[in-house]
Amino acid sequence: MRAEIIAVGSELLLGQILNSNAKFISLRLAEIGIDVNYHTVVGDNPKRLEEVITIAKGRADILIFTGGLGPTKDDLTKETIAKQIGTVLVSDDTALRYISDYFDRSGRTMSENNKKQALVFEGSQVLANHTGMAPGMAVESEGTHYILLPGPPHEMEPMFTNEATPYLFSVIGKQELIKSRILKFYGIGEAELEFRIQDLLEKQANPTIAPLASKSAVTLRITAKALSETEANNLIDIVDKEIRSIVGEFIYGIDEETLSSKAAELLSKNNLTLAAAESLTAGMFMAELADEPGISSSLSGGVVVYNNEMKVKQLGIEENLLSTYGAVSSECAAALAVSVMKKFGTDVGIGITGAAGPDPHDGKPVGTVWISIASQQGTPQTYKLLLSGLRNTNRLRASQFALYYLIKFLKEKNVQN
Ligand code: ATP
Repeated sequence: MRAEIIAVGSELLLGQILNSNAKFISLRLAEIGIDVNYHTVVGDNPKRLEEVITIAKGRADILIFTGGLGPTKDDLTKETIAKQIGTVLVSDDTALRYISDYFDRSGRTMSENNKKQALVFEGSQVLANHTGMAPGMAVESEGTHYILLPGPPHEMEPMFTNEATPYLFSVIGKQELIKSRILKFYGIGEAELEFRIQDLLEKQANPTIAPLASKSAVTLRITAKALSETEANNLIDIVDKEIRSIVGEFIYGIDEETLSSKAAELLSKNNLTLAAAESLTAGMFMAELADEPGISSSLSGGVVVYNNEMKVKQLGIEENLLSTYGAVSSECAAALAVSVMKKFGTDVGIGITGAAGPDPHDGKPVGTVWISIASQQGTPQTYKLLLSGLRNTNRLRASQFALYYLIKFLKEKNVQN
């Protein structure tokens, strides 16, 4: 496929503006493998434009025009090409509505001339203009493809990228595909995440990066457009790596993965068994994990030890420890984790304790949570949270954080059984 770019506009010939549209289009065409053999510039003169078209269609398969789609008398690109290819101009409803909405929004009155901008070749593919008024169009006539774009670069460039490129792909038989990957975060808020990756968000183009936050999750969707899946994946990998180098510690999974599915996958992959001792969460942590099919080979069991008496009786937590540090303490969380691991004979143990509210517990402020993870090697890893929600939100968040820390622990420690 050979292309010719035809820029229409007397101001180009007068040297008042540079033909930057041709540069932009040539670069993009090269990227998709279409050769550009000629750049032509012609003034706003129908006779000379006709001559240019006659020559161009004899030497190129795709003619790309920019300029002359405006409402004024000298904007004659459409009319001249219509005459050459023997087609008629009809008003496009969508384009007309867009133009009249534009005038409504700006409080100006639409003139008859502006209606002319909504005229398109009958049967052509209309290229939407989201940054201006005149629609573009693409049509094939006797084996030659005619693509008409507006002159102002801020209108022409997005139209070329988003509207004309898919048309060109269909002409040359290539299909652009779109691929996405969702990065899932925990332990970081949406605002903090956006702040940290601000530079990446500002320079994004392809792939794009879209932050999304729901009640229970913060995610980033990376979306790439490319001609092949490999190329799209490569583009996504580059951005994925950049994001991980900044906020990788908060990423627990991708796409459909959830905290519980990821934790279950890591336990199973590493052939590890787990037991839990839950005070604050009273079984919520295990219930979340039990959502995952096949978890029985990893989750051996656990205990709910809600009051101090049961912590002592069921798990042998020393009374002295509880009276010295209190039940809401790193010491208690670690003792719960180690003890439940031993009692159930598992590779990993987890202890969760805290003050859910509404009243402080043993002088510990509402929302104080301790989560500890023990394994057969080394000392337990203990984490503190200061949550600010209501009672049951705090309990739910504590069990989710427990899953998140378990994931981190399994990834970082590479625990062995
Ligand atoms: P409008 O609706 O603004 O009249 P149009 O499609 O009719 O758009 P022209 O009138 O030909 O386009 O050009 C409008 C402006 O676009 C020009 O004044 C110029 O600033 C810019 N422009 C036109 N052609 C080119 C080009 N080839 N390269 C760079 N800029 C251009």
